Amino acid sequence: MRVAIVTGGSRGIGRALAEELAKKGFKVGIVSRHPEGAVKSFQEMGLPAFPVAVDLEKDPPEKVVDLALAEGDIHALIHAAGINVRKPALELSYEEWRRVLYLHLDVAFLLAKAVAPHMACVGWGRILFIGSVTTFTSGGPVPIPAYVSAKTGLLGLTRALAKEWAPLGIRVNLLCPGYVQTDFTAPVWSNPDLYQAITSRIPVGRWASPGEIAKVGALLCTEDMDYVTGTTVVVDGGFLSY
Ligand code: NAD
Repeated sequence: MRVAIVTGGSRGIGRALAEELAKKGFKVGIVSRHPEGAVKSFQEMGLPAFPVAVDLEKDPPEKVVDLALAEGDIHALIHAAGINVRKPALELSYEEWRRVLYLHLDVAFLLAKAVAPHMACVGWGRILFIGSVTTFTSGGPVPIPAYVSAKTGLLGLTRALAKEWAPLGIRVNLLCPGYVQTDFTAPVWSNPDLYQAITSRIPVGRWASPGEIAKVGALLCTEDMDYVTGTTVVVDGGFLSY
């Protein structure tokens, strides 16, 4: 059975992606500080999953790959773990900047670098990074300079790795969700003024569910997507075209 690893797989968009991949026949490693609850609920649904208990801010990302290899050859990597610090640039400390950049961008690079040799051995791999509409914008009504920089950096990383690793059978893409109601965005959607300001700019007229993002992301990890690499797929209800 093909193994997929999904960081941030215990909740939100990562969890929905993990569920879609499991439905598509992958055995999914839920990478999280506390993956056990999610793994249990996957198993109760009859979906193949295993825990990869790692704190990506403390443990070396390579540990994820080492732990997952015990379950079989890794064919897919999705990096959906994320944090944010919502502060204007003049109030953002260097430590906060580094924390956000590290988890989103450095860990993406280190995980991809650790997994690619194994994908090359089987001649097949799918790597999916999670960008955002902030990959292409300044970040909306709440200042998030580190997050915007990290998500834009992922665009360059996606293109560079896609080009280098296409001959190895590895496809690398960037999935860019619009606004999704998760714990991550609770400080925004729980504020009626912010919620209204953002929602009024979404042509579809509402925020997405994690499942709506995941259905598209999981497709990018399938056999049919062999000719799709180095690109971004935006799932934003029309936000960027407003
Ligand atoms: P979420 O907060 O629901 O999930 C984030 C996940 O990251 C959680 O499972 C959390 O445990 C994990 N995580 C955080 N720090 C970690 C660490 N140190 N070690 C291991 N795991 C860690 O957020 P979400 O909304 O599902 O976001 C998932 C991804 O999608 C993020 O990259 C986010 O930037 C991106 N995104 C979200 C939205 C949105 O509107 N929610 C929009 C665009 C992009």
